[in-house]
Amino acid sequence: MTGAGMSVESGIPTFRGKDGLWTRYGQPPMDGFKRFRADPVGWWQKQVNRQMDAHMVELRDALIAAEPHPGHHALTALEEAGALNHVITQNIDGLDLKAGLQNLIEIHGNRSRLRCLGCGERESLGDFVPVEPPEPCAECGDTVKFDTVMFGEPIPEDTMQAARAQIDLATCVVAIGTSASVRPASGLLWIAKSQGAKLIEINPFETKLTSICDVVVRATAGEALDQLAEIFATSAVQVSGDIAANE
Ligand SMILES: [Zn+2]
Repeated sequence: MTGAGMSVESGIPTFRGKDGLWTRYGQPPMDGFKRFRADPVGWWQKQVNRQMDAHMVELRDALIAAEPHPGHHALTALEEAGALNHVITQNIDGLDLKAGLQNLIEIHGNRSRLRCLGCGERESLGDFVPVEPPEPCAECGDTVKFDTVMFGEPIPEDTMQAARAQIDLATCVVAIGTSASVRPASGLLWIAKSQGAKLIEINPFETKLTSICDVVVRATAGEALDQLAEIFATSAVQVSGDIAANE
C-alpha cells in the first residue's frame, strides 16, 4: 500500500508534514463532498475558471508535471518478477499506471478520470483541466465528478471490496510512504496484521503503524524499492507462493 510519501520524489507535495500543502495553506474544510453535492455546477465552474483554493492549484500543477520515479518503476519490476501481487495506492496521480503496473487499486480514485455518483461509470478525462462542467451521466442521468474521493465521500463500494479482497489474500503487506492516518484505507493495514500477514514499513519517518510492523525500513520509497527490485533481479531469490525473503 502506497501513500503520499510515494509521490514526493515525483515532485508531488504531501498534505501533512513539514512541507505539506495543509501545513503551508491550512487544512481545507472536511465537508468537500457535501459542498459538491449541494452545488455541483457551481463547483465545476470554479474548476473551469481556476477559482479553486491555492493549495489545489499547486497540487494540480504538480500532478500535470509529475513523472514516475525509480520507486514506481521498481514496483513494476517486482510485479514482473512475481514478487508483488497487487498495489493499493492512496494516491490519485496515476503514476503507477504510467510506470506500467498492471494490478492496481486506486482507493482514493484517479484525478484524470470522471466518475458517475449514481452508477459508478468511469470515464478517462485525458487532461487534468476540464474546459466545461461535464454533462450528467449518459447511463443514469446522475451527477458526474472527478473520480478522486473527496472529504466526506465514501470510497466507492467496488473499490473498497477489491482492496479488502487483496488484503485478505496477503501474506505480507508493505506500507510505503503512508502516514497510516487516513481511514478507512489505513485500517486495511491493521486488518492485514490481525489476519497474520507480515507488515513491512518503508518510510523515512515514524508513523502510527511503526509499532506493529515486523520490519521497518527508514528510507524513501525511491531508495528502498529500487534496492529491493535490484535484489530480486540479481540474486537467486526464489519467488514461489509466499513472498521470498532475502537474508
Ligand atoms: Zn451513471
